[in-house]
Amino acid sequence: MCGVFGAFSKDGNSVLEDVYLGLYALQHRGQETAGIAWTDLFGNKNVHAMRGSGLVHTALDQKALSSNTANVAIGHVRYSTAGGSDFSNAQPIIANYARGSVAIAHNGNITNATAIRNFLENRGAIFQSTGDTETILHLMAHQSHKPPLDALVGALRLLRGAYSLAVLLGNRLIAARDPWGFRPLIIGQRGEVTYVASESCALDIVGAEIIRDVKPGEILVIDEKGMKSLKIPVTPRRKHLCAFEYVYFARPDSLIDGRSVYGVRKALGCYLAKSSPCGKADMATGLPDSGTISAIGYAEASELPYEKVIVRNRYVGRTFIEPTQRVRDLGVKIKLNPIGKMIDGKRIVVVDDSIVRGTTVQRVISMIRDSGADEVHVRIASPPVRFPCYYGIDTPTCEELAAARMDTETLCRNIGADSLAYISVEDMTEAIGLPAPDLCTACFTGEYLQGGEDYEMDL
Ligand code: 5GP
Ligand code: SF4
Ligand code: MG
Repeated sequence: MCGVFGAFSKDGNSVLEDVYLGLYALQHRGQETAGIAWTDLFGNKNVHAMRGSGLVHTALDQKALSSNTANVAIGHVRYSTAGGSDFSNAQPIIANYARGSVAIAHNGNITNATAIRNFLENRGAIFQSTGDTETILHLMAHQSHKPPLDALVGALRLLRGAYSLAVLLGNRLIAARDPWGFRPLIIGQRGEVTYVASESCALDIVGAEIIRDVKPGEILVIDEKGMKSLKIPVTPRRKHLCAFEYVYFARPDSLIDGRSVYGVRKALGCYLAKSSPCGKADMATGLPDSGTISAIGYAEASELPYEKVIVRNRYVGRTFIEPTQRVRDLGVKIKLNPIGKMIDGKRIVVVDDSIVRGTTVQRVISMIRDSGADEVHVRIASPPVRFPCYYGIDTPTCEELAAARMDTETLCRNIGADSLAYISVEDMTEAIGLPAPDLCTACFTGEYLQGGEDYEMDL
């Protein structure tokens, strides 16, 4: 999972600080590297970039950016999946090729990147990074007989899997979303400036209004003439909007494909309360921050008091980005602490958004028990995660996924809960409120993207 942001100003005002702020609002989507690339309207159209490791404010020099002028820019926050955490995979990636300058910021994971890479390497391409995004640049460079926009369309036609892109082509801003719509992408406007962002929370920070989501399979070309919509020439059998964006990844103040993430999370909790009630409990609580909103929904629907009895240290990042099991184990303790007095002698329902390895919930239950709780019932606002994600989320292999290794009863015993229940795929789909065939639920069901794999490598 990564975040992308882009801005184009018709009146020539600099957008670099806007992009910085947009990335700041998308920080939850990636904390490993941050970068911005820009060209200027009146200059020689060379592409420039600033990239660094870590969070936006350490990776990028805000002062230097705001003293620079560029009317078009894109940015990226990276969370490593394809290509690993090597700094050569920091984005945006940039190139000056035969037909001009290109910069690309990519969220998602291209599933046929290795096949394309092999094909291109056999034709002499030399890759700079280990990531999948660079394949797009090479596919374009191999079509230098076409104008850059046609070369980009020709490249995207060959890709399978997930990509939400912000691209600079000379001084045009391009937004593109794969035909399956895996990752979100939205367009906004403030005065003469048009924005593209992974999530609408990044439009809020720059004071932009939502125009609309980029449609699956759509390419939007934004320049001084306005916005033009093109279609990626691939016909998908169905859409695959990532259900987990609503469950966990996106910020609750975002709207994705017309649905409020907050509203969905609350609804998940309500459905869970109906399917897996816990009548004898004294209170419901959520694991902060990811379980909180569903816990509020659960409490409301089951008429239990909602209490915030687990406190999160605000300065600790999300534990999943820490690499080793040991650090991960420690991470939970550093991050979350129960309020003993509130818990002592109580029967508690603990709601979280998901169980992946099972480390978080196991640790928390043991802390809650140490604080004197009588009963601990766990309710999970997503179905069991049994399969890895190949579309831009760094989920562990099946062997590490708690729900792939054990049935619910065994897992319940393992994490030390009095009861454990998940929401069903059907209820999750209803809570999201999009038609089932539009949603990707592969990590719950194993139903991966089918079809559209066959194509001729004719460049
Ligand atoms: P576990 O400890 O079971 O491996 O992780 C589950 C917890 O990690 C949940 O509280 C969830 O909010 C959080 N989490 C962090 N990163 C991810 C991710 O990439 N996918 C999912 N499903 N949950 C994650
Ligand atoms: Fe989202 Fe799961 Fe599909 Fe990956 S497999 S895109 S996390 S729903
Ligand atoms: Mg969590």
